[in-house]
Amino acid sequence: MKMVFLGPPGAGKGTLAAMASKSMGLPHISTGDLFRAAIKNETELGKKVKGILAEGKLVPDDLTIALIRERLGADDARDGWILDGFPRTTGQAEALQSIAPVELVVNFDVPDETILFRLTGRSICKDCGKIYHATTMPPAREGVCDICGGPLYVRSDDREEAIRTRLNAYREQTEPLIAWYGKLGKLVTIDGSGSPDAVYIRFAEASRV
Ligand SMILES: [Zn+2]
Repeated sequence: MKMVFLGPPGAGKGTLAAMASKSMGLPHISTGDLFRAAIKNETELGKKVKGILAEGKLVPDDLTIALIRERLGADDARDGWILDGFPRTTGQAEALQSIAPVELVVNFDVPDETILFRLTGRSICKDCGKIYHATTMPPAREGVCDICGGPLYVRSDDREEAIRTRLNAYREQTEPLIAWYGKLGKLVTIDGSGSPDAVYIRFAEASRV
């Protein structure tokens, strides 16, 4: 099964892709991991990616697509794969169709308010880097690290306004992609709220079609 997982930041698609990868025996392929691996292995593409990221720029489509093409040609990807975070645009989706036609696109639908609840409330220790969450992993004493006693701070891109900006950018860029896959007849949209186990059950039902 050749699958693409779509969803906004905080939709949990990375977690679900990891679960599906394990139970279905398919490689979980994310562009972030591809970039890191290419850089670590010092491939030709990796050297280019390293330079671009070092300048703080976005990796251009042609380079990302070249890495995807290489990865999907690997032995372990012969029976299928789960793409997470690619494609992001209809241009990338068209390129992917010409490399290997996708059989199922899973769109994880999560309301903005749920995403904000999941992503806000994170804080980090300034001294040791430990990550806390106001709801799921609060420190014993507010604003103070349990481990080293250092002060906690909130990263600027974890603030509500920054998250809303990221969400808006995603909706703008990806909504046409959802429509595009819909027209191909490959799209299923599932409710991405609730625990990962609950979402996985919905995914398993939807992917059996
Ligand atoms: Zn600390």
